[in-house]
Amino acid sequence: MKTLPDERKADVRIAGGRVLTQDGPADADLLLAGGRIADLAEPGEGPAAAHTVRADGLLVLPGLVDAHTHSYAQLCRHGLATDRLEPWLPGAVASGAGLTAEGAAVAATLSAVDALRHGATTTLDHATLGEGHAQALVDAYSAVGARVALAAQVQDVAFADSLHGVAPDVRADVAAADTRGAPTTESQILRCRELIEAAAGHDRITVLLGPSTPERCSGALLDAVAALAAEHGLGLHVHLLETPQQRAGGDSLGILADHGLLRAGLSVAHGVHLDAADLARLHEAGAALVHNPLSNLSLGSGRLDLRAVLEAGVTVGLGCDSWTTGGPQDPLAQARLALHNTRPEEPAAAWLTPGDVWALAAAGGAAAIGLGDELGVLAPGAHADLLLVDPLAAGIIDGVDLPMQLVMGGLGHGLREAWVAGRPVLRDGLPLHVDLGAIAARAAELQPALAAATAEQQPLADRLAALLSSTVPQTTVA
Ligand SMILES: [Zn+2]
Repeated sequence: MKTLPDERKADVRIAGGRVLTQDGPADADLLLAGGRIADLAEPGEGPAAAHTVRADGLLVLPGLVDAHTHSYAQLCRHGLATDRLEPWLPGAVASGAGLTAEGAAVAATLSAVDALRHGATTTLDHATLGEGHAQALVDAYSAVGARVALAAQVQDVAFADSLHGVAPDVRADVAAADTRGAPTTESQILRCRELIEAAAGHDRITVLLGPSTPERCSGALLDAVAALAAEHGLGLHVHLLETPQQRAGGDSLGILADHGLLRAGLSVAHGVHLDAADLARLHEAGAALVHNPLSNLSLGSGRLDLRAVLEAGVTVGLGCDSWTTGGPQDPLAQARLALHNTRPEEPAAAWLTPGDVWALAAAGGAAAIGLGDELGVLAPGAHADLLLVDPLAAGIIDGVDLPMQLVMGGLGHGLREAWVAGRPVLRDGLPLHVDLGAIAARAAELQPALAAATAEQQPLADRLAALLSSTVPQTTVA
């Protein structure tokens, strides 16, 4: 193991734990400096640290990454998925109609804490930003102390026009019924700029630009996003080919390419209906994919051929895609589902292994959101984002492959502390830097106003859902 030069003093030594390194578990001390891992040392050896934290009997694991979620749904739980994506979307939008900036902050706090509680020290929040929301989200994540990639979700196409792969007469009926209109291109770019400004100087916050889908954005908006991303050196995040309708609608990936968005630094959420040629294009461009297996089941969208994606050489992370479609922000639960999702159709010799999907929940997710080598690994130079886990309370036994046990058994009740940037942010299930009781109470107080705003939009959402429910393909369960 490397050690710090004698003249360098670490801020913190995490001593006596069993550290999951890239080479497997090892008894080691972690030396932290400036919020990063400075070094791993033999137990009790190496340079002194200003502060020592004992981790005897504990596992020290890298923080996990939830690489695609929408925090608003933590507050708007009444928007639970009850239909396929296209008919459900108007209802989902209705569920968030009453979301104020304060509500967005409450939701983001709940989301960040939920993620931490499941070992995800980083989330990618693909957030639709109302007025003032950008600052509210930045403040909320900063207060919790979690790491976040905030992707400004933008769109400027009316719902009916975004429905590719839907019969023209149905589309016309939807257009006639839908009175909601669409945001202007300018308003969406303004939201992006507000987020860039609000997050400036926050080193735990990464800003991304997040066209909702290629179909929901005009060419002008996609061009403006490409220009803004280039101007500020930002990554990109987009929903892509989640449903069969989107596949039937044409070449979604080609739209991104035409506007200069298919490049390294882009991650696409879902990609359930990407074909082999698409995967080759993604790989060639250096773009990544975020797999959301539970969301794809909960909305009946389909099941991604994850092996094909991995064999194409595409970087893959895992996402939970919001409370209303994927439940808690639990990357290990998604990993377990990703492991088993397509086994019924595959020869056993082709089945993925727990080690394959463990890599996606940690280092894969980090790479997918543009923070590869900095997160998801416990190695010198990486951010000190880590988990202290009691193996007894997690149900983990020694002498058996650790990633396999984590994928199959999760963290159980074993997560003692989650650390971000070299400091604890959650202990025994509760955040250390925000008053979760007050946040939860406020979440409850906001429910009547949210319900009232939803109720106003619900008749229209129901009408649009009825128009669309007959258009989506129904598959037969054998
Ligand atoms: Zn999503």
